[in-house]
Amino acid sequence: MVRRQSETLFRDARQYIPGGVNSPVRAFNGVGGTPVFFHRAEGAYLFDEDDNRYIDYVGSWGPMILGHGDADVLASVHAAIDAGMSFGAPTAIEVAMAKKVCELVPSIEQVRMVSSGTEATMSAIRLARGFTGRDLVVKFEGCYHGHVDSLLVKAGSGALTLGVPSSPGIPKAVTEHTLTLTYNDLASVEACFQEHGERIACVIVEPVAGNMNCVPPVNGFLEGLRKFCDDHGSLLIFDEVMTGFRVALGGAQAHYNIKPDLTTLGKIIGGGMPVGAFGGRRDIMQHLAPAGPVYQAGTLSGNPVAMAAGLATLQKVSQPDFHATLAARAERLMEGLATLAREQGIGLTTNQVGAMFGFFFTDQTRITRFDNVMQCDQERFKRFFHGMLDRGVYLAPSAFEAGFVSSAHTEEDIDFTLEQARTVLALL
Ligand code: PMP
Repeated sequence: MVRRQSETLFRDARQYIPGGVNSPVRAFNGVGGTPVFFHRAEGAYLFDEDDNRYIDYVGSWGPMILGHGDADVLASVHAAIDAGMSFGAPTAIEVAMAKKVCELVPSIEQVRMVSSGTEATMSAIRLARGFTGRDLVVKFEGCYHGHVDSLLVKAGSGALTLGVPSSPGIPKAVTEHTLTLTYNDLASVEACFQEHGERIACVIVEPVAGNMNCVPPVNGFLEGLRKFCDDHGSLLIFDEVMTGFRVALGGAQAHYNIKPDLTTLGKIIGGGMPVGAFGGRRDIMQHLAPAGPVYQAGTLSGNPVAMAAGLATLQKVSQPDFHATLAARAERLMEGLATLAREQGIGLTTNQVGAMFGFFFTDQTRITRFDNVMQCDQERFKRFFHGMLDRGVYLAPSAFEAGFVSSAHTEEDIDFTLEQARTVLALL
């Protein structure tokens, strides 16, 4: 497959944009080679600048759960644009959006719109600290919550050591209030609460981790977090930027039946436009300005065009059986891949929750922790990724990202993908 235009554009891009991209993982650093520049998308397909077609399992990193160019979403966006792109004042569509979110997400009684997932988590953390009057934040290694200073933290050497910044430019003083524990390891959480419980403002977690590939919670993990938070007066924040409206209509909290105090949302809630949100218990949300003292604001928050895309998307994903159909397709894709690998004697383990999936080149039969993910064969992943790309299948260009199925993927698309995988696996 020839991608001459992408090569040329990337050369130019690197002149004017750091690393040639506006968000790091797009640069193909994890897989090598030149990132693909796209100019058009339709349904389940992306078309690059040379007009090569790819089946898209990235979906703009999650938002495009209806596939690309959904007619209802586009009609809604066009109408909103014609009516005015931004007012910086309250609008009816914001109220409709807030009502819809409260109706769909079990724990959300009030919600505030922002413009990205990062803003949502940053604001939720501030609110949790303001509400509890405490400073410490607990997070988990391998979970990503956007590029918020206090959340860009590596675990220290021991499970209970205070976090160190994972990027230059973040003062140690900012991250010393962040404790980083092991995902799916409740014992470390218990020990942490025993030592610091009275000072912990909140625990923030991806209820299905999607930023270390796809790692679901083990039985009892989320329940345990809920209990430790309750016992110590700390807030539980589910970062559902990725899982919200994806693993189930009501997100992971509906799927696993656990109620967090606060929830952060992004991706699907904007239907492809820049939108995030955070919401939860009314008594907590009432602490937010202007109702309460915790400050938070945004010039383009609740932008009507973005709301139009998001609301139309939420209406469509609310249709009966929407998520069950997607989950069945994701399951067929993962089972198909696992079967092909087994037939060829290649170690491969898969994870899948609803329309979110992950596969791992490894002989480990269960992937539940960050350490398991790190032990996988990344070189094999790179070869698989490029083999699939050259055969018209666009997977996330990193072994540490989850994949997504949209309602535009047909059974034929899954068949095609598996046929290509059969060929590529044979070459590994
Ligand atoms: N939280 C999670 C779970 C995410 O997956 C992401 C983005 N991948 C974010 C937060 C940050 O969202 P954004 O990129 O919109 O700032």
